[in-house]
Amino acid sequence: MTTLTHIAVGAVIAKTVLSGHNIHTDPGLVYAVAILFSNLPDIDVPIFGIRRTIRLNWNHRIHSFLHFPLFWVILLVAYQVGVPLNIRQPLTPYITIAGISLGIHFLLDSIGFNRGICWFGPFIKRQMSITRLVPEGKTVMASCLQYTKSMLFKMEVAIFIGCSLYLLVRR
Ligand SMILES: [Zn+2]
Repeated sequence: MTTLTHIAVGAVIAKTVLSGHNIHTDPGLVYAVAILFSNLPDIDVPIFGIRRTIRLNWNHRIHSFLHFPLFWVILLVAYQVGVPLNIRQPLTPYITIAGISLGIHFLLDSIGFNRGICWFGPFIKRQMSITRLVPEGKTVMASCLQYTKSMLFKMEVAIFIGCSLYLLVRR
């Protein structure tokens, strides 16, 4: 899914957490954490540069450790084991929100068009997707055009509109 959808879903996660749970958190920080972690697996794209990213032979979902769920699981386990309880305790709501946001990012990316996600990367670099993957176009432009004509694009627009309505309408 695209960055816009990940941002919208992150904001929905934050709003849902804040409206549904009576937890002592800073609302601004909840939004920041949810939106940041909803996009963090894709952060390698601006880091490595757009030029590298649009090269069709470089797929950040295969070539970047940030897009392997296992990396985040190891990080979380290291945090649980390595950070003292008195430091962890006040951070628990934020870490939970971060984990949920990351998980939902990977689930959304599992609804793929050209690319899926390597759930078992870096050990098994096979892209998996709930939907049937379509071979990429010969150029980035061709792939983008192909995508905008797909059912998946319509679905992504629907998710984005749904999230926007939820954020605007629901108190
Ligand atoms: Zn992604």
